[in-house]
This record gives sequence, structure tokens and C-alpha cells, in this order.
Amino acid sequence: MHFDGEVMRIFQAAGLANRIAAATRPSPHGARYEEPSGRTLMIRRGSERPDPNGWSGSWYFHQPVLEGILRQGLARFPNVRVHLGEEVTSVDNLDARFVVGCDGARSLVRRAIGSRQVDLGLHQPWLVVDVLADPESPRTKALPLYSLQFCDPARPMTLVNVNGRRRRWEIMLMPGDDPARLTDPEIFWPMIARWLGPEDAEIERAAVYTFHSVVQEGWRRGRLLLAGDACHQTPPFLGQGMCTGMRDASNLAWKLAAVVRSEAPDSLLDTYESERLPHARAFIELAVRLGAVIQATDPAEIAARNQRFAEGSTTFDFPAPQLGPGYGHGTGPLIGALFPQPTLADGRLMDDAIGQRFAIVGEPALLEKLRPDAVLLPGVGQDWLAERGARAALLRPDRYIFAVAP
Ligand SMILES: Cc1cc2nc3c(=O)[nH]c(=O)nc-3n(C[C@H](O)[C@H](O)[C@H](O)COP(=O)(O)OP(=O)(O)OC[C@H]3O[C@@H](n4cnc5c(N)ncnc54)[C@H](O)[C@@H]3O)c2cc1C
Repeated sequence: MHFDGEVMRIFQAAGLANRIAAATRPSPHGARYEEPSGRTLMIRRGSERPDPNGWSGSWYFHQPVLEGILRQGLARFPNVRVHLGEEVTSVDNLDARFVVGCDGARSLVRRAIGSRQVDLGLHQPWLVVDVLADPESPRTKALPLYSLQFCDPARPMTLVNVNGRRRRWEIMLMPGDDPARLTDPEIFWPMIARWLGPEDAEIERAAVYTFHSVVQEGWRRGRLLLAGDACHQTPPFLGQGMCTGMRDASNLAWKLAAVVRSEAPDSLLDTYESERLPHARAFIELAVRLGAVIQATDPAEIAARNQRFAEGSTTFDFPAPQLGPGYGHGTGPLIGALFPQPTLADGRLMDDAIGQRFAIVGEPALLEKLRPDAVLLPGVGQDWLAERGARAALLRPDRYIFAVAP
């Protein structure tokens, strides 16, 4: 699975970036949408260099390893109690100031809130198979390093170079498939025979998932809140489902802390959904459009698709949408945009110098007389701001821009 540079920045804020970097794999290779003929339809750019977030823009990982690091990280906080293997059956009589339901696609907290589901149109079962490939096999060595979206109308598939020996095949179910039999050796191996066979790899794990594209309206009711798949689900064509949930956590964490400490009014929490929902939706809508490219099986659809790419392949990057309206001052393209993370003159990454606080960056002359309760970083980001017609910016603890001095 994959996460991006902004998410690494969120792990950095949690003090876990180095541990996670050691257990994941940064990749300069993007993704390619290819037909069986080898013709490339679309390319998601990869990058050799750190992205504007100060980290590589693409990291590949095995989700249980990442979740293990996050869970172990909780041990640093004596006030956190973890109850594993327990099922929450109701939140009606919980003795808690707030409850954040990160309880996945079938969220019980969402039902208690009574959120309204908005269907974004894509619902399709896929078989997901992790295989451990023999690194010495010439066929393993010949596998693509980039993520391959194999646009074969007979059998759309995705091939991901996960980490170490692990490769993932995601295989679209076709009419007539028996989901229970798809991993039978005589059915599974022929499907991926153009890349690997049983002599090159072993199946580690397989499951059928239905990819959904939905957002929920209603991420909060009183003391109940939602985050992650509980309030949005995306098909994985951009590798952004968990990333979206991490962004929720980053947006909500400082607001919740401020309200709990009585440093901000309770209404600050109402900016969480208004900011995050349009942002999450932009990623999901792009994933649905990408899904239409790879999932096309009907000859008329394929002809229309190929017509669109007749002039050559299209290149795209991850979207970088602004937050929706919420906790920001004024309007314009910078308010609610993510501020980049430069390296400071002393070698530190900017976020490490700020911590979980507000900060003001930009022209030194504008900053020198300020005595605010925020970190001042004179000169930082000055060129980036100047290119966008601004002289200084006030950054929120999640590094989105609250206000700018024009
Ligand atoms: C094939 C596939 C590929 C993907 N690839 C990527 C990728 O490359 N990049 C990416 O960012 N994302 C990817 N995702 C999405 C990612 O896996 C999810 O978005 C992410 O796991 C959601 O996290 P979550 O914590 O919100 O929900 P979940 O992971 O669903 O966790 C919810 C947890 O709550 C628990 N729970 C639920 N109800 C209760 C209850 N009543 N009591 C107690 N516990 C409860 C569940 O047991 C579970 O442990 C992919 C998903 C799939 C299926």
C-alpha cells in the first residue's frame, strides 16, 4: 500500500517518521495505466526528489507493519489505555467528553450520529492477493518498479511493488467468477501468468473486497465525531484511503485538544467536516475517474477511452485541494492550502521547529515587531509566498494556512 509526503509529515508530527521511514519504502516511481499491447494511457508522475512536504512523495508499506508502529507509539502516552479484542456495542452511555469513531466502513458511531451517505458511483468487487516473490527469479526481477494499472478489458488488474519480496495483485472480478474459487491454483496462477507463476512466488494472503466510493454528510453530532473510512471510502486506484483518514486525524487532533483545554470554543469542531469533506471528496472523485479508465470492459467504452488517449498519454499528479471553508481568515487560493515544509538554515525540517503550535512565516521585516503566542520563523517560505503574492502567512498546527499578509 501507499502513502504520500503529506502523510509522512503527519507521522513526523507524531514523532514516528523515522521509525516509519525505516519500515517503508520510498519510491520515485509513479503509476502507469497500460493496455495489454504495452501502450501507456496515463502516468501518475513519480519523483526522485523530496516533494514540497520535505519527504519523498510516495511510500510503499505493508499495512499491518505500519499499524504496529502506530500502536506501539501509543505506549509513550501514560494517559492512553488500549483495549484490544473488545467490541463496542453502544456509545449511548459512555463517560467521555468526546468519542471519535474511527470504526471503519460499517461504523457504529456513524449510525449513532445518523450521517447521510452520498454515493459517488463506483462499487466493484476485486480480488486482492499479496504474494511473496522469489527475489532470485528472473521473472521477479523483470516486474515493473512502478505501480501498473493493467487496462485489460478481459481482466483489469493492478500490480503494486509493495516492499521487499511482497507484491500485490488486485484483480477485478468478472461476470461468472466464483469469488470462493479465484485463489484456487488452477484459476489464480493463469490470471497472472504473463508476470509470475507458482515457481516464482507463493501466495501470502488473498481476500475479495468491494471497492466503494462514498462520503458521509454528518461527521459530528454533539460529542460524537467520525474519522477515516467511517466517513468516506475510496476505491484504491490512487492509494489514498488511509491517507485521507490520516488527514482527518491531523485536522481534528489540534482542534479537539484546543476545545478540551478550553482554549477554543466548541464551534471550532464544526469546521472539521466543512474543511475535510470537500478535500476528501476531491481525492475520491479522481479515484472514480481513474477507475473508469482501468475498469472499462465494454467495447464501446474502450473505444471512447482510447479515443481520449489517441493523441498520447496523459500525465497527472496527486491532487492538492484546498480545505473547504472553515477555520481560516479571508478567502483566496492560499487560505486552507497546505504550506510546504522547507529545511531551515540550522538543518531542521520546518515542522520540527514548530511542533503542535501555530507559526508565522515570511518576510523578516513584517515579523520582527510581532510578539504573538506562535512560533516566528522569519524568512521561512518567503519566496514561496512571494510567488503567490503574499508576504507572510499564519500557519495552523496542521500546517494549513490560516491567513496571509498580502
Ligand atoms: C485493496 C485495498 C488497497 C488499499 N490501498 C491503500 C493505499 O495504497 N493507501 C491508502 O492510503 N489506503 C489504502 N486502502 C484503504 C485503507 O486500507 C483504509 O482506508 C484504512 O484501513 C481505513 O482505516 P480506518 O482506521 O478508518 O478503518 P479500518 O481500517 O476499517 O479500521 C476500523 C477498526 O475499527 C474496528 N471496529 C469497527 N467497529 C468496531 C466496534 N463496534 N467495536 C470495536 N472495534 C470496532 C475494526 O475491527 C477495525 O480494526 C486500501 C484498501 C483496500 C481494501
